[in-house]
Amino acid sequence: MKKAFQHLGRKVLAMTMAASLLAGTAMMDTAEAAKKGPKDKKGKHDVELRVMGTTDIHTHLYNYDYYKDEEVEDFGLAKTATLIKQARAEATNTMLFDNGDLIQGNPLGDYKAKVDVLQPGEVHPVFQAMGLLDYDAATLGNHEFNYGLDFLDTVLEGSPFPYVSANVFYDDGRKNNKHYVEPYKIIKKKFKDKKGTNQVVRVGVTGVVTPQITQWDKAHLDGEIITKDIVKSVEAVIPKMKKAGADIIIVLAHSGIGEVEYVEMAENATYNLTQVEGVDAIITGHNHLNFPGDFQDMPGVDSEKGTINGVPVVMPGNWGNNLGVMDLTLSKKKGDWKVTDSATKLMNVNDVEADPAILEAVREAHEGTVNYVRTPVGTTTADIHSYFALVQDDPSIQIVTNAQKWYIEKQLAGTVDESTPVLSAGAPFKAGGRNGAGYYTYIPEGEIAIKNVADLYLYPNTVATVKVTGADVKEWLEMSAGQFKQIDPNNSSEQALINADFPTYNYDVIDGVTYEIDVTEPAKYDKDGVVVNGGANRIKNLEYNGEPIDSDQEFIVVTNNYRASGNFPGVRNNTGVEMYPDENRQAIIDYIVEQGEIDPSADGNWTFAPITNTVNVTFDSSPNAVDALPEDGTIQYEGASQNGFAKYRLTLPTAE
Ligand code: MN
Ligand code: MG
Repeated sequence: MKKAFQHLGRKVLAMTMAASLLAGTAMMDTAEAAKKGPKDKKGKHDVELRVMGTTDIHTHLYNYDYYKDEEVEDFGLAKTATLIKQARAEATNTMLFDNGDLIQGNPLGDYKAKVDVLQPGEVHPVFQAMGLLDYDAATLGNHEFNYGLDFLDTVLEGSPFPYVSANVFYDDGRKNNKHYVEPYKIIKKKFKDKKGTNQVVRVGVTGVVTPQITQWDKAHLDGEIITKDIVKSVEAVIPKMKKAGADIIIVLAHSGIGEVEYVEMAENATYNLTQVEGVDAIITGHNHLNFPGDFQDMPGVDSEKGTINGVPVVMPGNWGNNLGVMDLTLSKKKGDWKVTDSATKLMNVNDVEADPAILEAVREAHEGTVNYVRTPVGTTTADIHSYFALVQDDPSIQIVTNAQKWYIEKQLAGTVDESTPVLSAGAPFKAGGRNGAGYYTYIPEGEIAIKNVADLYLYPNTVATVKVTGADVKEWLEMSAGQFKQIDPNNSSEQALINADFPTYNYDVIDGVTYEIDVTEPAKYDKDGVVVNGGANRIKNLEYNGEPIDSDQEFIVVTNNYRASGNFPGVRNNTGVEMYPDENRQAIIDYIVEQGEIDPSADGNWTFAPITNTVNVTFDSSPNAVDALPEDGTIQYEGASQNGFAKYRLTLPTAE
């Protein structure tokens, strides 16, 4: 309620300002226009245009989490559809665009690409749904290319609306390469102005995608597709759109909000697009973040109004969790329509019901997908659980690091990095803590279904690598070792081992090297990566190939996009980051499918360092862990602990 009033307050203020301007010379947006003199002083013939956008839907049509195999409230185009209908009902003139990353990203996408494969002439479920929503146009996201061009061609044949992209071309060797889809479209719309008079506005729409698609999907696109710089491509297309009669220009940017400085061929160029002459509004995405909302600290950002450098911009999250809404005021000046005011907002799907018509339209694909995720991908010869992931090398992490290494070695084959040693980092995502005593991975021996893989890898992270030195690997592990409290070797009373303030997803185990963690030393870093004990040295006997690690040797460490772009000690010294298009989870699924049967034993590449004195070290885990105690007797059940947890005692290795 408070928010609504604030919003109203701003509107009143804006109107007051407009009125005082009118009382003065003229309500003109440029001095040049003022010279020519106003035709429509009071804006009676202004057109209020509501531009709506979706982005990064990633085949989330039903509000359903196929990994958990349950309905959800916080995403799904069926719910966004309800918002689209609401937003349309509130406005006289509306348009609707999709910003790409549409056909890949959850099991439904895989199901239509690999299981119940889309046939020529068949309409993809995404378009069965969107066909009911009257989209005006869309652009391609990077993930559209994940299943190859033949598949994408088949998908696009069934599109009920035009696709535009200004920077994707056939690699046809011609001087002016042919665009893969139309670079732009001029959509002639009949809108009602404030007096109710019909006004014809030619809305030009173009689109761009991250040029890195040719790297990320090299296997599919090499020799087929080339990409060009986002900013230059838009700059090139705008005069053509103007010549073709565009009154206003909307850019669909499947590129995130990134650096302020323009860098040629940048992945995230939306900020730079706001500085391109002629761009009137931008629907952006790719970051899976929100605008207005995120990016508040960047120069030129007005989070209240939803503009960057004065240009209306909207980034509606991902998976249909938000509808982007830009209300543009179009004023006609000397025969030209200009955007003279704007208000941008996001509408969140949490509080609305799914649209039954959308659910019905894609029911067949949804039910097929549910059956698909319930089907086994392979078998495990032993239980996989994370009960002891913080106190011993653990199968629930080992299978992740193994799959990541398998994935990356295929990617590096034939590249200059083919012979650079690959290490692989993984952390326990589900390891109790604040999420409670039920929050552990548990997959029983036998069949593993696709949905179980979510239990192993909770987040939709994508695979990434960083190039670091042996010295950086040690700092990375020193950071991870902040997971443990300092143990006093001279104290024989009970000492808790786990530092509950340190999130377990930051406890990276690095496979491919061997090491010991000396918990009698203090942690070098705090949970935020700040040095708190500069001389501390918890990581002992760090070895690669059975030899002490060479501080200067270069390694490629496989991790996820989150870690690779973060500020972890060691990681932050990297000399190169590569982002890959596939989710770590998908890499695990593909790995298990290829292996058929997996032996989930950990390789024991890390242990605690031997301790000279006898200590009494304990930790909490699931009460169910009592049935999974290691045979060597190093972990013993002590009894019930707080909040439903059970207490266990860990025998640390002893020095001779
Ligand atoms: Mn995306
Ligand atoms: Mg290991």
